[in-house]
Amino acid sequence: MISNIKYMSGVKSLKDVDISGKRVLIRVDFNVPVDSHNNITDDRRIRAALPTINYCIDHNACSITLVTHFGRPKGAYDEKYSLVHVKKRLERLLNKNVEFIDDFEKSKDEIATCSLERVFLLENIRFHPGEQKNDREFSKKLASICDIYVNDAFGTSHREDSSTFGITEFVDTKVAGFLMMREIEAFSKALEVPVHPITLVVGGAKISTKITLLESVLKKIDKLIIGGAMSNTFLKALGYDMKSSLYEADYVDTAIQVLNEAKNSGVKVYLPVDLVVTDSIEQPIDIKVVPAQDVMDTFMAVDIGPATVKLFSEVVGLSNTIIWNGPMGIYESDKFSKGTFKLATAIADSYAYTIVGGGDTADAVDRCGESENFSFISTGGGASLELLEGKILPGFKNLDRKE
Ligand code: ADP
Ligand code: MG
Repeated sequence: MISNIKYMSGVKSLKDVDISGKRVLIRVDFNVPVDSHNNITDDRRIRAALPTINYCIDHNACSITLVTHFGRPKGAYDEKYSLVHVKKRLERLLNKNVEFIDDFEKSKDEIATCSLERVFLLENIRFHPGEQKNDREFSKKLASICDIYVNDAFGTSHREDSSTFGITEFVDTKVAGFLMMREIEAFSKALEVPVHPITLVVGGAKISTKITLLESVLKKIDKLIIGGAMSNTFLKALGYDMKSSLYEADYVDTAIQVLNEAKNSGVKVYLPVDLVVTDSIEQPIDIKVVPAQDVMDTFMAVDIGPATVKLFSEVVGLSNTIIWNGPMGIYESDKFSKGTFKLATAIADSYAYTIVGGGDTADAVDRCGESENFSFISTGGGASLELLEGKILPGFKNLDRKE
């Protein structure tokens, strides 16, 4: 049986089809973070789609229609989630005029009128109740405005929505955009044709959300570094009293199983040897570094300690491939971000092929200014997690395949 990554690399890309004179619909992921005034705080996702859009412009598509969701509207128009701000940023990045379409059915004829280099942006696709229900009729309607469907929304490719999945039933030619291909190539490099030793660094809040990932990749990796609240459950499994730290009591047995499986597969496991502990997350008065065995009553572990940073840094320094998913502590708070940021720098400084999956991890790497120094940072949090879990993502499932 071929792996999920091999299967997904087998889809046709935009380069494999002739788009000249065709109406091209590109499902992009412009679900960008915004501040309270709706200003875009990070336009990485828009930038990531530019190669695909520009390729279609350069190869004489009849018209280019961009489709995306933004935020979580409830299947109806909501000004808060309108794409007006996104349109502005897109125009600036593309350096050309983009036409906004409120109602794609009404604008059908306009989209079909060939005029080279015309780019349309549909209003938030989640304003339609059919989108997230993957409604067949809605998918059919959406399909009727294009000849070629291009999926380049990696960040949404784990969803079975109309515009990411259902639409493929009604379009003859459906291919992946360049971002989708780049994401798959990056994960393929880390897991299909990797240079050993491979180290997986996991962290974040919960073992329960990452257990499938651990089970799926344990056989492929050489070393496993565990930090964040996730490591609290493992330390608990070793018999340490974690006091008020966040850990999952229901998963202590699972943690023991993972440790056993790692041992049987010859995977070396590294857990924190010291921790940053505090009396309160919101209003810390007392912050200390203690050995992992010595968390005090009423205190909680919120970051890895300096000795652990040193230990983990040595491990990543000896690795040739590093996959990172999950921060080492509550990195959102300045006081508890040191462990995550220092490890980010150690990974960035290594000579390894380095890849980040996970939304919060990507955000942490960005906040400490190391984004440019990683080999690849996935644009999809949930999607990259499901990919690492061994799943074939719905966004790739029904695309045309190479021979
Ligand atoms: P990703 O989005 O990269 O997959 P997760 O969503 O799994 O990462 O985890 C990120 C969250 O984990 C962050 O909000 C962070 O504050 C939290 N976290 C990490 N370590 C701890 C800890 N020791 N205690 C509580 N929360 C933690
Ligand atoms: Mg997250």
